[in-house]
Amino acid sequence: MSDGPPRFRPFRKDFRWEDVARLAYKDDGEAPFRDVTRQVLFASPDLMGELRYFEVGPGGFSSLERHRHVHAVMILRGAGRCLVGTEIRAVSPYDLVTVPPLTWHQFRAAADAPLGFLCMVDAERDRPELPGPDDLAALCADPAIAAFLRGEGPDG
Ligand code: MN
Repeated sequence: MSDGPPRFRPFRKDFRWEDVARLAYKDDGEAPFRDVTRQVLFASPDLMGELRYFEVGPGGFSSLERHRHVHAVMILRGAGRCLVGTEIRAVSPYDLVTVPPLTWHQFRAAADAPLGFLCMVDAERDRPELPGPDDLAALCADPAIAAFLRGEGPDG
């Protein structure tokens, strides 16, 4: 009955929480990304889901991927843009982003600001799929998506 996280974990400065480790986003070489950290805020056998806080450093980006599981995201810090499917949107604190199943997605921080967000997921989830050459060609047929994936566009 003593398993599980402490009942109270105060917020600390700089989007850290007491007793929450700041982890690598993914294992090295697993997928291309730049300057992303992960904190698992809630993950327990008593829950069907997990809540994580990701932070992308200025100019950084999460991996471009898709999977069957869904992401429910709330932006908490900074500024940036995200690609969901074929749609690119500027995002800022408290915006909500839903990533449906099997939908390509990537989060990019602005050049001069981090992008921090909460992400809720199923506890059990499939491994992300990375785009192959054909997938990238299809995505980049849209010049706006091609520019986004090159890190070009509003806010860098
Ligand atoms: Mn994902």
